[in-house]
This record gives sequence, structure tokens and C-alpha cells, in this order.
Amino acid sequence: MSKPYADREIWFLTGSQDLYGEETLRQVAEQSQEVARALDASSDVPANVVWKPVLKDAVSIRRAMLDANADDRVLGVVTWMHTFSPAKMWIGGLDQLRKPLLHLHTQANVELPWDTIDFDFMNLNQAAHGDREYAYIATRLGVARTTVVGHVSNPAVNARVGAWVRGAAGWAATHELRLARFGDNMRNVAVTEGDKTEAELRFGVSVNTWGVNDLVAAVDAVSEADVDALVAEYETLYDVVPELRKDGDRHESLRYAARQEIALETFLESVGAKAFTTNFEDLGDLRQLPGIAVQRLMSKGYGFGAEGDWKTAVLVRAAKVMGEGLPGGASLMEDYTYDLTPGSERILGAHMLEICPSLTTSKPRVEIHPLGIGGKEDPVRMVFDADPGVGVVVSLADMRDRFRLTANVVDVVAPTAPLPHLPVARAVWEPRPDFATSAEAWLTAGGAHHTVMSTAAGIDAFEIFADIAGTELLVIDEGTTRRGFRDQVRWNQVYYRLAQGL
Ligand code: MN
Repeated sequence: MSKPYADREIWFLTGSQDLYGEETLRQVAEQSQEVARALDASSDVPANVVWKPVLKDAVSIRRAMLDANADDRVLGVVTWMHTFSPAKMWIGGLDQLRKPLLHLHTQANVELPWDTIDFDFMNLNQAAHGDREYAYIATRLGVARTTVVGHVSNPAVNARVGAWVRGAAGWAATHELRLARFGDNMRNVAVTEGDKTEAELRFGVSVNTWGVNDLVAAVDAVSEADVDALVAEYETLYDVVPELRKDGDRHESLRYAARQEIALETFLESVGAKAFTTNFEDLGDLRQLPGIAVQRLMSKGYGFGAEGDWKTAVLVRAAKVMGEGLPGGASLMEDYTYDLTPGSERILGAHMLEICPSLTTSKPRVEIHPLGIGGKEDPVRMVFDADPGVGVVVSLADMRDRFRLTANVVDVVAPTAPLPHLPVARAVWEPRPDFATSAEAWLTAGGAHHTVMSTAAGIDAFEIFADIAGTELLVIDEGTTRRGFRDQVRWNQVYYRLAQGL
């Protein structure tokens, strides 16, 4: 079975030195290939793990790192000191490395061969101190990295390496990302603003705006035949309400929605964008706010943010890539309204239209209803309930001197009762550790009301993504306490200012 990132590589670099003689180095090479093969064979590791010849001196170490930097297929580098590899040899290479780094602290054997162990064995299997020497220099240099400890036969090790690969893939995705905004942000809204220049430096994303009438022109250019084909697809894939079907009174609205989807996708492809934003206040000559069009583009992997919220669009795109091949999905989400029943408090999340159907395994209904704001024709939208399961909601806010990611691990649940009059897709969830602690922490963090909800990529991948990007991440989960979280926010305030240099 091909891997989710079939065209991407993780380079497996093994450190040693010339001291040990040919026989030991041959064993180092063989055993490190076995470790790399085991990782590559794991279904939890979503990219190809490529073993590289054992590194024994500063010149080859530096060369390996420079080659990793230069190769676009490489998501990141795994390092392991099977023997002792004097770490001054690693200074030049680590100083040059620009790709995500994982330090795998492992060894070839699981059990010690107590009966037969001799000093040859000790010479060969000394990661316990070889990796300490290496980690010392990495820490001294301030090299951001993920450290994973354990034997590769341990599923937890593969799972964590896999999460790191996913985080690294998210980082690569934001660096390859061009984001198209149709119009500016919703007027007067604070949290959707942000420093687009800093975002390009920090996450690599290029954020630019097009006039919405460029999109209108693309809508006008769509052929009737293409609309026919897409409408037929809607009728196959979804439960389309009778009024929108071919002989229904409002079929023309469905055709216009299909026209918008084709135009949006064509336009985004033409500018190389994998993420976009809309703004209901700035629709130009569009007849309606895109609903099903945006939902479908998200399900195809596009990042999206409403009301000009490009930062959330970046997160949705990153979550799409980090979650590739996993069950579940990712969508724009908004904390909308609460059920405050004591002891079973729940959050109802939704948006005016744009929730991605990757959050459900059910068949969405395609409906048309008025939209109170925007002053346009009634938009067509998919309506469904998100599947129950564990998820995470993540927001990205610009705190002026840095970006802050805030994440909450949540349990998506079935709605307490059917919602027959709610005309939009939604998710209902119980936040961890409990509603009051979660909401208090979120508000203390200044987290946004727009988030990405991910039920595919989990908190581990986001954590690694944040580490790689050198970006603050405040996690609210089962371990969160009110006091601990408040203190963390205060300490981070100092740490992140110092970490950026004075
Ligand atoms: Mn909104």
C-alpha cells in the first residue's frame, strides 16, 4: 500500500566515527538499515524512510544536511547515534540544517544478552551515551527538534515518529502554500487581522488578495456543460432536496452554486492557491455567498477561512495535509452557542454555511435557505452532523509580537437531540478537561472564535508543527488546570519574547 506522502522522504542519518574499525562499522551500517526499514515498513509512518550511509566526520555530516535542505522531497531528517559520534563533528551540519529534525533515541537490540555480553557488544551498542553527547550539542546550539525514545518494534515509537512526519508535512505544506483572499477581512473584526509578512517568514505562506470581481468573471466563464456534470454529481453524492433537483422550482440556485464551485477551483488553480478566504461583506456581483462550493473545496483539501480569516485558512490547509490518509477530516469551525446543562455542558459549533463534509461519514443533505446577512440570494449548503470521536480545535491569533496557537482536545458527540430547524452543518462537542476550565483557559489565552476542527490529524501533529515553526502553542486537554494554564500564559509571555532575541 502506498504511503499518504508517497513522493516524500525522511532521511535516516546514523552517527558514528572511524575509531571502531571496519567490522563494527559494517554492523552499524547493517543495523541502522534495519531500524530505517522498520520505520519505513510501519503503517504509522506516512512517508518513505530513506537510509543514508553512516556519517563518520564533520564534512560528510555537513554535506548530508545541506543535501537535505536542497531536496524538496525531504520532509525532515532523523538522526541516531548508534555508537559514539563526537558531537563537535555535528556542529557545522546542525547549524546548517533548515529541515525538521527528529532525534531517535533507540538501539538495535531490545533485551541485553546478559549471558554473552562482552566489550565488543558494548562498543557497538552505545546509543545510551552516544545520543547524550549528540543531544548536548543540539541543545547547546538551540536546535529545535523532536526527541523520540524507544525501540522501533514498540508501536508507540512508530506512532510518535508518524506524528512527527505529519507535523513536518504540515510545515512543508504551509511553506508551499499560496493563499488567495477574495476581498479583505470583515469590517471591525480584530482577531482575523494579522501580520501577513510575519506569517510568510514564520510559516512560509504567501497571502495575497484578489478583487472579488475576478471571481465573478470566472463564474461567468463556466460552461453549461460543466455545470450539468457537476449538478449530476451533487445528485449522486448527496440527498438533494426536491426543490433544488432538476425539475424543482429552485434548481437554478443549485446550478449557480455549481458554477461558483467550478469558478473557484479554476481560479485557485490558475493562481496556484491551495487556500482561500471569502467575505460576505464583499461579494461584488456574486449572486450569493459560496456555500456548498466552499464545503466541497475544503473536502478536496483546500484551506478556507470565512470573513477574510486567512490565518484559519492556513490552519485548515495544514490540518488537511497532516491528516492525509487518516479517518476523519478537517474544517473551518466556529464556537457558536452553548448547552449549559450542568454536568453535561456542550458546545455547538457551526458557521453560516462553510463546514467541511470530511467531518461526517453520513450522506449530507443539500438544502437552500435564506441567509440573514449579506443581502444576497439564498445560498445552497450541505447540512449534516459531524461524526462522534476525538478531535482538536486549533486557533491562530496574532499577539502583535508573535503568533499564538491555542488548541483544545475535544470529544465530538452526537447532538443531544435532532436539530430539524438548524439549516447548517454542525459539530457538537464536549471540551476537555471540562467545559468551564476549557472556556476559561481559551478566553485567558485570547484564542480566536474561528478554528480548524481536526478529527484526523491529532494534537501530537499540531504540537510538532508548532515546535518546528517556533510558534507558541497553548494546549487545553485533560491535564489542564485553571492555575497551571494561567501561569503558563504568563511564563510564555516572557519566554517567547526572550526566545526571539532582544
Ligand atoms: Mn465567522
